[in-house]
Amino acid sequence: MITSVIKTTDPTQAATQGAAILRAGELVAFPTETVYGLGANGLDGQAVDRIFVAKGRPNDNPLILHVAEKVDAFRLWATEPPHARALMDTFWPGPLTLIYYRSAIVPDQVTAGLDTVAVRMPDNAAARALIAAAGVPVAAPSANLSGKPSPTTAEHVLQDMDGRIPLILDGGPCRYGVESTVLSLAGTPTILRPGAVTKEMLAAILGEVALAPSILAPLSAGEKAASPGMKYKHYAPNAQVLVVVGEAEPAARRLSALYDEFAAQGRRPCIAATAEALPFYGRRRTALLGTRRDPTTLCSRLFALLRELDTEADVILAEGIGTEGTGLAFMNRLLRSAGFRVEYL
Ligand code: AMP
Ligand code: MG
Repeated sequence: MITSVIKTTDPTQAATQGAAILRAGELVAFPTETVYGLGANGLDGQAVDRIFVAKGRPNDNPLILHVAEKVDAFRLWATEPPHARALMDTFWPGPLTLIYYRSAIVPDQVTAGLDTVAVRMPDNAAARALIAAAGVPVAAPSANLSGKPSPTTAEHVLQDMDGRIPLILDGGPCRYGVESTVLSLAGTPTILRPGAVTKEMLAAILGEVALAPSILAPLSAGEKAASPGMKYKHYAPNAQVLVVVGEAEPAARRLSALYDEFAAQGRRPCIAATAEALPFYGRRRTALLGTRRDPTTLCSRLFALLRELDTEADVILAEGIGTEGTGLAFMNRLLRSAGFRVEYL
């Protein structure tokens, strides 16, 4: 299959082409404000099956349905979820996915057999134009091969999906660079995956909000994942990733020592650094992630940096930070990419 890439400079034209492919039951990769999505007609089980094949995704890992308008969410749920209106009014369109009991029109392939469905309205004009032109909710996970870092540019999508899908819409780099916050409203409101809509922001609306234990730790034996995606290896480049969590200077000293040990063994280390720690690495090879003062900058660079360094380094030594605000989303992705190989200072 030939994979075409078209720019979304004219969102209507891109949407028309993409929607025709979606309605024919095929796949289209498209930009969102979080990461690139790999879309199929979300009401067509056979079309959704193709997503799992193209990604090599385990079929017990459910997908998010994307809608163009808030009202379109309600027919996907069995009844109106508690708190949904207030959350949608505050955060939609935007990087917040809401989970609640599914309605009968949602195919089993989308929910991987669960009785709940995840729904989101993306804050990206090209994405919403595509969904509106398709006239159906669009099921879309991140447009990477399963297990790899999520794509934040159309080039990343092409690296993973060339020859596997007919069309990629190129809307340039994604604003946030990490996937949406996933919040379950079935039972006590619980964050299953952290994102740019933070626990603090949700607590301002909901009062209490719980965090799934698997956000910062691997599942223990026998434990059931609240979100099936949490149990799989995730965001992993080919290089080994090691994380050191601490203040800038001590973290930099420890990472420098690790760097020197790996270099002495003939390995090719590179340090994923914050601006605050950069002066402490001397002449060692570094790549700048962003600043600790604004973890959103670290989030937006992380996946792109893991892909870029993959060709140049076989060990990526990364600074970890605190989990306040978007620090939680950053640490959730970073620890998974490291397979939880982490030192806390
Ligand atoms: P991705 O599409 O790659 O961003 O992955 C979607 C994430 O949402 C995965 O971690 C899924 O496991 C999770 N998810 C989707 N639907 C549900 C659901 N009904 N219940 C729990 N988690 C879900
Ligand atoms: Mg994904």
